[in-house]
Amino acid sequence: MSDEIDGNTILAQSLKEQGVEYVFGIVGFPVIELGMAMQQAGLKFIGMRNEQAACYAAQAIGYLTKKPGVCLVVSGPGLLHVCGGMANAQVNCWPLLVIGGSCSEDHEAIGGFQEYPQVEMSRPYCKYAARPPSALLIPTHVEKAVRLATYGRPGACYLDFPGNILQGRVESNNIVKSYIHPEPPLTFPNPKSMIEAAEMLMKAKRPLVIIGKGAAYARAEVALRQLIQQTNLPFIATPMGKGVVPDTARQCVAPARTLALQRADVVLLLGARLNWILHFGRAPRFNENVKVIQVDIQPEEMHNSIPTSCAIQSDLLPFSEMFVDELAKRKFRLAKSGEWWQELFEKCDKNRETVNRMSMDVSVPLNYYAVFHHLRMKIPSDSIIVSEGANTMDIGRAMLLNNLPRHRLDAGTFGTMGVGLGFAIAAGLYCRDYHPGKRVICVEGDSAFGFSGMEIETMIRYQLPIIIVIVNNGGIYSGFTKDDFESIQSAGDPSLVTPVTALNVETRYEQMMSMFGKEGHFVRTIPELEEAVKESLIPSDHPSIINVIISPQADRKPQNFSWLTESKL
Ligand code: ADP
Ligand code: MG
Repeated sequence: MSDEIDGNTILAQSLKEQGVEYVFGIVGFPVIELGMAMQQAGLKFIGMRNEQAACYAAQAIGYLTKKPGVCLVVSGPGLLHVCGGMANAQVNCWPLLVIGGSCSEDHEAIGGFQEYPQVEMSRPYCKYAARPPSALLIPTHVEKAVRLATYGRPGACYLDFPGNILQGRVESNNIVKSYIHPEPPLTFPNPKSMIEAAEMLMKAKRPLVIIGKGAAYARAEVALRQLIQQTNLPFIATPMGKGVVPDTARQCVAPARTLALQRADVVLLLGARLNWILHFGRAPRFNENVKVIQVDIQPEEMHNSIPTSCAIQSDLLPFSEMFVDELAKRKFRLAKSGEWWQELFEKCDKNRETVNRMSMDVSVPLNYYAVFHHLRMKIPSDSIIVSEGANTMDIGRAMLLNNLPRHRLDAGTFGTMGVGLGFAIAAGLYCRDYHPGKRVICVEGDSAFGFSGMEIETMIRYQLPIIIVIVNNGGIYSGFTKDDFESIQSAGDPSLVTPVTALNVETRYEQMMSMFGKEGHFVRTIPELEEAVKESLIPSDHPSIINVIISPQADRKPQNFSWLTESKL
């Protein structure tokens, strides 16, 4: 006779064995004991206030650590609340493992408590969704789920556990033991394609490198920095590709992004998809005859939207290391004095001037550029920046620099609002556990903050070093003045007359800190902002909120294109 063991313990121990470190979730029937077993097995459990935020946190920790975070939820509605999170992880190509408790099998089909077809529901959002048929098979399914979340193009997996399987006891001798899989195998580039790519780049008149979050996930930063320095190729990064090569590098042509994309004749696309973020790679945003050298771990991604001229299936780490040598062999270096660089330099200078002018306008109510410029000057340059909101995110992307990889987390490929506080919690834990002293600056529009504002309580409970900066214009996109708002509201039934984009004017979000006996910061001017940042940087064991009131009419600098609202159909 061997010892008896319950499903909760088997599951917790299997997760630990497969290298899982963090679990985010909200417990309730039937997973309370599972949460306890997880802590007992040495997994770090972070209890959150909203399942969706827990799921965002779990996937962000996956991106930051390359090991899937677990999101633990209860049955039925608990799991339904994380659909958005699963979809976001899958669309972002980030590893995630969702674990849902579910209705006991003997209550299924007769109206069980929170009964719901959970495996079927999760399947469209996942690379793997299953219910282990017995507690004895839990280790096999956990191994597979962790492997599928991280191997190939990373993504989401779901495992379903009916209450009877979690609580039931089995003989430990009968457990089907699993093994610990190694790190994902690296895919190496085809040497012939590398030569072709090198030759295409060397023949280009106006080459451009685009660095995406696939390069960030691949940890390709050392080789890519060398590649850019050695070749002097101009580059731009996608929002979360920022920092793989520093934004402050001389070759970063972010200020001339529109021109660089429109004029480039050969693009080296590294771990980024030609989706809406990159305007589908099509005219008028790209040169009609642009040749694309595309490097991606997923071959199905090639030729999407436009034909790829040179398709290279590879992990970006080995590709970048080998491509540096390939170009060094050819002594390839783009002359600074050449026409292409001159064109780019000129445009960068011109755009920097416009932005500088807007940044220096510190009149009250403040504008976005002034807020971000002065915020940037005061925050440590190695901070992890989380950002969401419409204008807040778009303008912040250009104004807040990243000089380190994986130091920007935002609404991402799915354009999801509400990710900010969950992402910040993951980043805060990552700082606390791996880089003590590092800060998370979570820059939120007032609308974005509202999606998961109660997670401030989670941040306090786990003593996380997060500074939340709310850029508050009293609305979605733009806002309203107090007078506008009052006259609107006195005009009749508020549900008929209040503009659909309106939020309350000058809501005192910073006062949420008083719920914990602490003070937040209310800011209208640049000196007040500077003082608030300085004070918020002192304690490293709790979050703070800086509520910055900006002009309801503040906007982006004039844009040449509004791609999202254009359509050819
Ligand atoms: P961005 O948002 O930065 O434009 P995307 O999410 O659109 O980036 O694209 C990232 C791409 O990177 C995906 O197509 C994914 O398959 C790819 N990718 C992910 N990990 C790796 C890796 N280790 N090596 C190469 N490509 C990767
Ligand atoms: Mg707003």
